[in-house]
Amino acid sequence: DMSKSVQDYIRKLEKEKTIRQEFFSNASHELKTPLTAIRGYAELLQSGMASDTQMQKEFLGRIHSEVEEMTSLINDILMISRLETKELMPTKEMLCVKSVAEEVKKTLKPLADENNVSLEIHCCDEFVYMDRSHLQGILSNLMGNAVKYNRPGGFVQTDITMDSTSLSIRVEDSGIGIAKEDQKRIFERFYRVDKGRSKRVAGTGLGLSIVKHVTEFYGGCVSVESQSGVGSTFLVQLPAASLVQK
Ligand code: ADP
Repeated sequence: DMSKSVQDYIRKLEKEKTIRQEFFSNASHELKTPLTAIRGYAELLQSGMASDTQMQKEFLGRIHSEVEEMTSLINDILMISRLETKELMPTKEMLCVKSVAEEVKKTLKPLADENNVSLEIHCCDEFVYMDRSHLQGILSNLMGNAVKYNRPGGFVQTDITMDSTSLSIRVEDSGIGIAKEDQKRIFERFYRVDKGRSKRVAGTGLGLSIVKHVTEFYGGCVSVESQSGVGSTFLVQLPAASLVQK
């Protein structure tokens, strides 16, 4: 009846309000942490305590990596708010999937080398009509996670195929894996697995929520299969019909 649907509606609004409040408080916290570190290093440099150039270089390097982290968080937040408000319509263009994937691989190469993880891509020669930042967002988050949550000597294998029904992006890793109870939650905003090795890796918990959001924007779906200590495989499927110019 009428009063029940009003109550449901109010409950829905309240839930959205809580999610929004959590989002802002988490985001502010995630931005403040690197800022505090940057301030600290800047003050040390100003104080003249870092006397030799080696130490100065070290502090500047840390400032630089904190700035990188803030930039990636701000990009993630912008991407989410753009997807949510739909204010800025996506700018779709014909993209060569292979060249976007190779670009992403190039940007991840230093991190992969640092972690001694191999990166391999098998990709079709297809073109898709998509917003470039959407395809990049899916690939860089999935492949980036597969590198970050891996083990030394491990691998990341990306397979991208296209058939008459869909574009499939499959990213397999030999990493730490994800426990069953966490698999349902990792696509939520800011959710991070709260366990030893996973906790030590830098991140915001936004990456997979972006992957899910973008995927659903094209009417597709994302899923994961994983076993703790063995590895994970993420699969994104985008309907072919949503990737053509109308
Ligand atoms: P972030 O990596 O910034 O923490 P994500 O939303 O991309 O955020 O991922 C959420 C969480 O899911 C991560 O913190 C991590 O615990 C887990 N996770 C994601 N991808 C993998 C993976 N390939 N292997 C193991 N754990 C993963």
